[in-house]
Amino acid sequence: MAYQVLARKYRPQRFADVAGQDHVTVTLMNALTQGRIAHGYIFSGHRGIGKTTIARILAMALNCRNVIGSAERATAEPCEICDSCVEIRAGNSVDVIEIDAATNRGIDEIRELRDAARYRPARDRYKIYILDEAHQITDAAFNALLKTLEEPPEHIVFMMATTQPEDIPQTVRSRCQHFSFHAVKLVDILEQIRGIAAHEGVEADEAALALLAEAGDGSMRDALSIMDQAIASAPVEDGRPRLDATQIRDLMGTVANTIFERLLEAIHGNRSADVMTIANELLDAGNSPAQLARQFVRYLRNCIIAKIAGVGEDGGSTELLQISADEQRRAGRSAALFTEEELTRFLQVMLRTFDELGYRQEQRFHFELGLLKLVHLQRLLPVEEILSRFPTSGSAGGSASPQSRTASTAVSSAAPVTRVAPAAPRPVTPPTPPKPAFSPFSSNLKSFNEPASVPPQKAVEPQVLIQPDLPPPPVPAVSIVQTDPVDEITAIEVAADLLGVGALPAEILQPEASPIAIAASAAPAAKGTQSGEDLQRMAVEALSGAKSQGSAADALGDSEWTVAGDEIRVQTELSKTMLPMVINPEAEKIVRTALRSSGAGQLKLVLLPGGGNASAAKKPRAAKTGSAQAKAMDHPVVQQAQRLFNAEIRNVIDLRDND
Ligand SMILES: [Zn+2]
Repeated sequence: MAYQVLARKYRPQRFADVAGQDHVTVTLMNALTQGRIAHGYIFSGHRGIGKTTIARILAMALNCRNVIGSAERATAEPCEICDSCVEIRAGNSVDVIEIDAATNRGIDEIRELRDAARYRPARDRYKIYILDEAHQITDAAFNALLKTLEEPPEHIVFMMATTQPEDIPQTVRSRCQHFSFHAVKLVDILEQIRGIAAHEGVEADEAALALLAEAGDGSMRDALSIMDQAIASAPVEDGRPRLDATQIRDLMGTVANTIFERLLEAIHGNRSADVMTIANELLDAGNSPAQLARQFVRYLRNCIIAKIAGVGEDGGSTELLQISADEQRRAGRSAALFTEEELTRFLQVMLRTFDELGYRQEQRFHFELGLLKLVHLQRLLPVEEILSRFPTSGSAGGSASPQSRTASTAVSSAAPVTRVAPAAPRPVTPPTPPKPAFSPFSSNLKSFNEPASVPPQKAVEPQVLIQPDLPPPPVPAVSIVQTDPVDEITAIEVAADLLGVGALPAEILQPEASPIAIAASAAPAAKGTQSGEDLQRMAVEALSGAKSQGSAADALGDSEWTVAGDEIRVQTELSKTMLPMVINPEAEKIVRTALRSSGAGQLKLVLLPGGGNASAAKKPRAAKTGSAQAKAMDHPVVQQAQRLFNAEIRNVIDLRDND
């Protein structure tokens, strides 16, 4: 006898033998018993789960020559012995026509079919058409079929098997009974292949069988195809082929999941070197990056499910995980290392990596990069977590808490000279989350610290009263002008906490070490001479008085004026292109005249365009009080976020009805 593949050899011949589709088989048997036969059936679901098999069994049951309840046929199951049953099983019944719709999808074939359907069956009760891959049939062809379905002759039954039922026109679907098939459960596949292995005289350990069943991924046929291959390549001992897990993994090109468990342990321990070593071993062993990424994606998915379903190291299992008990425990162990959120992010990254591998040249690098990302991902704090640390974040809306209001007014009235940000709100109860050990922001913070560690002597000179070139005043700039030093430290701590560092270096906590603080305290001493502020006021007044120089006046009002040596440096917020247009020669002339009359004419006026970063880091201006923009800028959450991300507010939209 010619060799038959397992999937065909062990194809079920009875409804009861079909694994995992009880909801379909029970309904069909009831319908048969009651004689309620539809003229159209749609069987939908993944490949290899029994759609065509059930269509054949149904065809046998419909055309079986023995009536239900007879001695040969007690139930609705086909008798399997009558001429009709035997012929249908062998595939040569004249009244059961199987059509592969993938190749016979056009209108001509369907017309032919429709015309043939008019004739009565040759011998049996029904003329049955089984259309495989029915979604491939063209719309025109379906329309040709529609008439037959609308007024079907007594003797006609159509069965359509498809993986994509949504591609079948609604007009056709509504005239058929639709059965949606389930993916076959792991235990069902396992039971089936265990039985087949015994029947075939194949030695196989439990791990090997589990692996085959998992590889089927809900499809009985896939599992059996792999089993076929595995048996063919298995070593023979005492005349019996012997299956083991390693051999099956080699066959499928997969690696043991222990590898992924090790990878996740290394990721958890922040051991990039170990991660790279494992990746290197895998790739050097000839595994393809795409296949590894695919398997890792599956493993991560299992970990997430294990986490959600609460599968622990100590066992416990879930229906959600169609993998063996050993694998469930492994997934549980890996899942215990991370939070659900972290695992979700890992999965996202690996999915993207897998996608990208499809069209990238240097697959190996992308795979490695994907793994490294996982190591670093752990340290990231989600934005939600950062924002949730603000005491005010709970109260939605545009208004800040009363505390922060007072803080900001205190700042603006006490020190109009320095344009530093209003204080951060006093934390009501500063939450101290346990993580992280270190923060990706710490490197940023380090550069932030640099201006703070400038030797104080340098800042004492009056010329650097307010340093225009000071890098974006970062964390230490918070509330340095506040009178209460305790507040100041708390505010800095809040910012530090926000940045994810436990404690700041001592010099930051010492307000007097900050050059800005010194500048602020030195400000009164400079009052005798002309300060930048005074000059600015004069220039703005002169421009406001002049004809059509309003925008120039505004621009200079919004800029920072400093006197440095024999220079008046005006740091505007205008771009390089805009600067000469807004402060045009005439405006410049007016300013110079004003400055000359004030006795500062010998100083050189330097207009500076605002850089992207410079303006972004600029603290909220007091201008346009009451506007939605000003209120938004005033909000401590906005300010903290701005500082944290070095962000720029471009647009503020007020969604409230009115204020
Ligand atoms: Zn029969």
